Amino acid sequence: MLHRRIQFVASEIYPMAKTGGLADVAASLPAAVAALGSDVHLVMPGYEEALDRAEGLVTSAMLPDVLGIGGGRVLTGRTPDSGLPLSLVDLPGLFRDGGGLYCHADGTDRPNNPLRFTALSHVATALALGGLGAPWKADAVHCNDWHTGLVPLLLRLAGGAARPASIYTVHNMAFQGLCPLDSLPLLGLPTSPEILNGLEFYGQASFLKAGLWFADRITTVSPNYAREIQTPEFGFGLEGVVASRADRLVGILNGIDTSLWNPSGSPLIPAHYSSRDVGGKAHCKMDVQKAMNLAVDPEAPLMVFIGRLTWQKMADVLLHTVPDMLAREPDRQFVLLGQGDKPLEQGFQDLARHFPGRVSIQIGYSEGLAHRLHAAGDILIHGSRFEPCGLTQLYAMRYGTVPVVRPVGGLADTVVDASDDALDGGTATGFHFAEASREAKLAAVNRAVSLYRRPEIWHRLRRAGMDTDFGWQRSARGYMAVYEGACARPAEQTIRP
Ligand code: ADP
Repeated sequence: MLHRRIQFVASEIYPMAKTGGLADVAASLPAAVAALGSDVHLVMPGYEEALDRAEGLVTSAMLPDVLGIGGGRVLTGRTPDSGLPLSLVDLPGLFRDGGGLYCHADGTDRPNNPLRFTALSHVATALALGGLGAPWKADAVHCNDWHTGLVPLLLRLAGGAARPASIYTVHNMAFQGLCPLDSLPLLGLPTSPEILNGLEFYGQASFLKAGLWFADRITTVSPNYAREIQTPEFGFGLEGVVASRADRLVGILNGIDTSLWNPSGSPLIPAHYSSRDVGGKAHCKMDVQKAMNLAVDPEAPLMVFIGRLTWQKMADVLLHTVPDMLAREPDRQFVLLGQGDKPLEQGFQDLARHFPGRVSIQIGYSEGLAHRLHAAGDILIHGSRFEPCGLTQLYAMRYGTVPVVRPVGGLADTVVDASDDALDGGTATGFHFAEASREAKLAAVNRAVSLYRRPEIWHRLRRAGMDTDFGWQRSARGYMAVYEGACARPAEQTIRP
C-alpha cells in the first residue's frame, strides 16, 4: 500500500468536540488509517472546547478577514489521545460565541451555519494545497457531511492535474446544509452555470449536493445505506444525484474504537468483564440501579436507550411504547439518557414520575454515563426510521447489551436477528422489527425479554455480539483503497469560476 498524505476535515472530532457518531468516526478512522502507514492531518473548527482539549497548540498562520467575519488564526497541535496532528480553524466570531456546535443554547439552529462551515471549507482547502503553514500538500482530502461539502468544489476550482483528490463521506443524508442561492457571492463562491448545476437544490444551494456532485469518490458508512440512499425513501430528494454517481460510491461499515469502548478495561465503568466471564456486568447493573433510583434486582430485565431524542431515532414512538413495555411484567425496568426535541424530553420526564423505581430519565449528554448504561443494560432499545450506520448498537453489543433494532441502514448490516436458524447456528446478536410502529417495536421487545428469561440462550446471544469484531482494521483498508482510486483518477478539466 502506498504511503499517502491524507487531510481529514470534519465539523466534530472526539474528544475535541462531539454531538454524535460523526465525532467518534472522525477520531478513530484517521487513527486507523495512520496505523496503516499514511500521514494524516486533521482539520476542524476551533470551538472553545477544542482549544481546551487539543495539545501543544501553536499559531501556524494568521487568517485575514476575507468573508467579513473578522480575522483569525490557524492553530496547530495534536489530539490528546491518538497524538495525531491537528489544525483548528480559530475564527472566534464564528466558532467561539457560546452555545452548541450547531445550535444556540436554546436549541435553535444557528442561522449563520452556512457561513461558518464555508469558512471552514475555504481554510481546509488552502491547507490541503499546502498553504497557511500546512506541513504538506495533501494527496487526498477526506471530507465529511454537509459541513465540508464545498471542499470538493473548491479543490476542483483550484484545479491542476496535481490537485489533491477529494473523498466525500455521507454520514447522514438528512442534514443538507441549505442556504439561499443569492448568498453564494457573500460566501466567496463563484456562480457559473457549471457550479450552480452542482449546487442548486429546489431553488436553494445544498452543500450536501455539492459534495456528492464534485467529489472524486463518495463513500457512506454502511453497504446497506449506500443502496438505500439511491431510493426516494432514504435519499431526501438527492437519490437521483447519488444514483447518477453510483460508480464512484462505496459503502464501508464504520468501526469503533475497541480500546476506548472496552468492558475489560474502561476506567468509566465500575467493574470489568469479558465475553468469557461476564460476572462484572452484574455489578455494573447494580451500580446503575442504585444510582438511578431503580429497584435493585439482579434478575430484572434492564432496558436502556442512549441517543438523540429525535424523529430519526423513533423517540416519539418509544415514548408511547414504554408504558406497554413495562405493563407486561412488573419487574421490567427502563433507563434513558438523551437530549433533543423539547416536547419529547418533557414527555419522558413525565413518564418517570408515573413509574417510580422502574423508569429513570436523564436528559443531557454524558459520555461517562453512556459507558455505564451500556455496561449495566440487558437490552438496548434502539429503533430508527433511517440509520446510516449507527454506533450505539455496536457499543451495546461490545458491552454485552443485546440490541432491539429496526433493520435499516447499518443496523441491518451489524445486528443479526434471533431467528430460529440464527439461534441454532450461534450467529444471532439481537432482535429486528420491520415496521416503524409501536406494535412492531413492542413485539420485538417482548421477544427479547422472553429470551432474556432463558439464561442459556441469552448467554450465547450476548456472547456472539461481544465477540463480533467491530474494530477499524478492515474498514480502514477499505478507505485506503478508496484513497488510491481517487488519487489515480484520470486528469479532468478545471472548473471555471
Ligand atoms: P447519531 O450519530 O445519529 O446520533 P450514532 O449511534 O451513530 O447516532 O452515534 C451516537 C453517538 O453519540 C454514540 O456514541 C452515542 O453513545 C452518543 N450519544 C448520543 N446521545 C448521547 C447522550 N445523551 N449522552 C452520551 N452519549 C450520547
